[in-house]
Amino acid sequence: MLADIRYWEHKATEGHFAIPHFNVWNAEMLMGVMDAAEQHRAPVIISFGTGFVGNTSFEDFSAMMVSMARTATVPVITHWDHGRSMEIVQNAWKHGMNSVMRDASAETFEQNIRQIKTVVDWFHPRGVPVEAELGHVCDEAVYEDALAGYAYTDPDQAAEFVERSGCDSLAVAIGNMHGQYSSEPKINFDVLARVHEAVRVPLVLHGASGIGDEDIRRAIEGGIAKINIHTELCLAAMEAVRAHVDESFLSLERCVRDAVRDRAASKIILFGDEGKAE
Ligand SMILES: [Zn+2]
Repeated sequence: MLADIRYWEHKATEGHFAIPHFNVWNAEMLMGVMDAAEQHRAPVIISFGTGFVGNTSFEDFSAMMVSMARTATVPVITHWDHGRSMEIVQNAWKHGMNSVMRDASAETFEQNIRQIKTVVDWFHPRGVPVEAELGHVCDEAVYEDALAGYAYTDPDQAAEFVERSGCDSLAVAIGNMHGQYSSEPKINFDVLARVHEAVRVPLVLHGASGIGDEDIRRAIEGGIAKINIHTELCLAAMEAVRAHVDESFLSLERCVRDAVRDRAASKIILFGDEGKAE
């Protein structure tokens, strides 16, 4: 069934687990994630974003996302990831996404607040929650170089940002990065603790593919309520492609779906999300 992200993020915060956010941009990824959610009685977020429109027509694929979310026997949130403009997140909502992230994290503090507030003022009367990002989670790069110029979330700005922007949840930059890490991720738990202390909204961890299990558990204990996974689903799919490349396309496609299911299931279990569906 379609579910409200605010309810699940708050429940996760209180219950010291995290709700998984899976980027899905083709049928195999979507079905694999939903298989895992059903098998493990787990609430999940299925999410699309601009980076995938070159592969898949969102306006068509969204109908499948919404249909599967509605008919699922577990709670499912349909989400737009990293919306770079008002028009993009409005289009996502018009096509059935019931939660949006507006990402203005590359802009100045004041611009970020202004952009988020504009989106919040439009979406809140329509009952749709808005995720924002403070600091900046960079895109895939050489990790050491990324860390050298890393824009950590400033704990001293976090409360003001949340209050003035009106955002419902906050993505944090604590040493995390999108894509594949070229060396061991260095998560700054001190920054996380100070941000968690400063704000009451649920906290979100992007770029969690490749962060070790121990650090993930520690991040959840430190207040992370939603964790985004994309790269690891792609890696699992690619392993299946390589292992079954000589089989028929029909067979290969099912193997990809199963590989995505298994990787999604491992995250559901790691995040403490298993069995949380009501
Ligand atoms: Zn992200």
